[in-house]
Amino acid sequence: MSRVVLITGAGGGIGSITATQFAQAGDTVIVSDINAESASAVALALCEAAGDPTRAIALPADVSDRGSVEALFDNIRERFGRLDCAFNNAGIGGGGAPLLDTDDAIWDACVSINLNGTYHCLKQEVALMLENGGGAIVNNCSILGVNGGANAAYTATKHGIAGLTKSVAVAYSGQGVRCNAVCPGLIDAGLGSRTVQAGGAKADAFIKLHPIGRPGTGEEVAQAVRWLCSPEASFVTGDLLMVDGGYSAR
Ligand code: NAD
Repeated sequence: MSRVVLITGAGGGIGSITATQFAQAGDTVIVSDINAESASAVALALCEAAGDPTRAIALPADVSDRGSVEALFDNIRERFGRLDCAFNNAGIGGGGAPLLDTDDAIWDACVSINLNGTYHCLKQEVALMLENGGGAIVNNCSILGVNGGANAAYTATKHGIAGLTKSVAVAYSGQGVRCNAVCPGLIDAGLGSRTVQAGGAKADAFIKLHPIGRPGTGEEVAQAVRWLCSPEASFVTGDLLMVDGGYSAR
């Protein structure tokens, strides 16, 4: 039986690439995003590529809005009655500003989307997975969820996601819900592609912090997510998997 997989922020970037890999592997993918149009386009493309109109479905939601996430899960319960895997990927950058230059509106947006959004989704996902004997959850964290960074709002909210990942793993792994995070370095997809494509000294300096000598790809993050969701990772929970070309090993 094909697994039911929810991916938030799947209308573009790392989320849509991960949705593509799950769909190609035969899973049924719920493509969720605040942007209904991009979510629909991704879901349609996945169905067409599979030659199967049920391979993916677009269910838009704003993860920062508790009511919107509850409505998303009412929909998932009604249509599927279960959820096997979830990738909590929706997120925004913090604009790069250090504390004293942090715009309060950006701080609030990062807390609402990155941290509260992950919290709202986890609450619904864990509850539904527990009803069906378990599941696997992966949160999209960052190298800045583990290492310090001047970018105050992003670093703080990604550290929050790292803590939440471990907390959920400690509380629910015994009941069959594994919860892990991927911590990507600079990725040439989504937010990171703007830095990579801009090039110049700033991009070069950032890339040099990755001992492997290049940015990662969205596909490399997606492969890590899929592994964490697979039976091969059955004893892995509460882990923050660095997908960062050695950034954190320095
Ligand atoms: P992206 O901007 O392409 O993707 C983010 C997606 O989230 C977009 O489709 C956007 O519409 C959606 N989104 C934004 N706010 C939302 C909300 N309130 N509710 C639902 N969806 C919402 O960027 P990306 O780089 O693919 O980012 C995906 C995740 O990867 C983020 O959590 C980001 O922090 C993380 N990440 C990215 C990199 C990188 O270099 N690209 C590195 C580390 C971590």
